[in-house]
Amino acid sequence: MDNNKSNTITTFINSSKFAEEMDQNDPMRRFRSKFHLPIKKNGEPYVYLCGNSLGLQPRSTREAIEQELKDWENYGVEGHFHAKNPWMPYHEFLTNAMANLVGAKPVEVVVMNTLSVNLHLMMVSFYQPTKKRSKILIEFDAFPSDKYAVESQIKFHGFDPKECLIELKAREGEELIRMEDIEKVIEEQGAEIALIMIGNTNYYTGQFFDMKKITELGHAKGCKVGFDCAHGAGNVELNLHDSGADFAVWCSYKYINSGPGSLGGCFVHERHSNDNSLPKFAGWWGHNKDTRFGMRDGFDPILGVESWQLSNPPILSMAAILASLKIFEEAGISNLRKKAIQLTSYLEFLVDKINDDRVKIITPRDPKERGSQLSIQVKSADKSLFDKISEKGVIADWREPDVIRIAPVALYNSYMDVFRFAKILKDELI
Ligand SMILES: *Cc1c(COP(=O)(O)O)cnc(C)c1O
Repeated sequence: MDNNKSNTITTFINSSKFAEEMDQNDPMRRFRSKFHLPIKKNGEPYVYLCGNSLGLQPRSTREAIEQELKDWENYGVEGHFHAKNPWMPYHEFLTNAMANLVGAKPVEVVVMNTLSVNLHLMMVSFYQPTKKRSKILIEFDAFPSDKYAVESQIKFHGFDPKECLIELKAREGEELIRMEDIEKVIEEQGAEIALIMIGNTNYYTGQFFDMKKITELGHAKGCKVGFDCAHGAGNVELNLHDSGADFAVWCSYKYINSGPGSLGGCFVHERHSNDNSLPKFAGWWGHNKDTRFGMRDGFDPILGVESWQLSNPPILSMAAILASLKIFEEAGISNLRKKAIQLTSYLEFLVDKINDDRVKIITPRDPKERGSQLSIQVKSADKSLFDKISEKGVIADWREPDVIRIAPVALYNSYMDVFRFAKILKDELI
């Protein structure tokens, strides 16, 4: 089967033979062997569908980290200049690949800190409340850390979250937020909104919002617009530059497979590259590289998003990101996205085939409005159902009260993984 044809399959079959055939014809299939799949006691791999929480370890990661350990062993402090990948400019080795992955220009992307930290740094610059314009717009079911972050920023500026935080809710009886409702809030309250900060893709429902549209609506009303792309980066094509958003933040341990707690990414649109009037917390890693070690000068920011860097970064974590990004470069995010659409659609087909009134997919049905995740609600179920599925060898994610989040990841999941999961779910529902 050629590439083209495999992308246009619409008639799926609910059989292991079909799933196997899909795997055999999958142009991305070789990438699975580049990852360590967690192994059960009996020697078989788990059905790992949790890449939206923690991506699997690339086999190349160990060597990349060992290289840095070796260079530290051999060079000590001189490794900053003489390591195979010198530590001084190390973050620069990640920039192009990361920028490609999120659809941005290199001057707009840097790997630094972790997500919640970057979100705060971005709000230092892009949330400047005034008496007239003090509000932040966020989704009601935003990731808790994001909510804590925006609330604490509002309080930090002396405002009251009860008045200043607008939470976008799905309509009564619905799970997803309608674009027309986003439009309405911005239309009605835009003049009072300082910042629109939306989780894209939503971690709970898997809903992928149209960032360009939201940004245009926000900018038309004079709001700043930023996105948390924790569940988008490495998953969907984000096109951050074209979205026009002021900033975006994401982590690298979910779909970007860089290991627990690894560093996050940060995007600031190039229109802000040169803007030294933006309030900014500063540290030496954001200072002009030529005079950074002069240590006497006033703060002279680097051009672009690198000027938001504070500290010299943890190289061991960056080595893991570098190893992971090499795989993305080889695969190509648009190829991965093509497979992800197929694989997720196959999962959707199989879950629908379970044909049980208790089972409902709350993620959008339109592949354009979702990434690789399906959130499956099982009405009247409790965690014991999820525990049974786990015992059968599936690693997935349970969200109270009744949602199983399943993320088939194009890089390492197979059609057989998805088939096995659906069969186990069906069997355990009886
Ligand atoms: C995973 C995730 C986080 C986690 O933040 P860290 O600072 O990396 O711990 C925050 N926000 C969203 C939307 C997430 O999905």
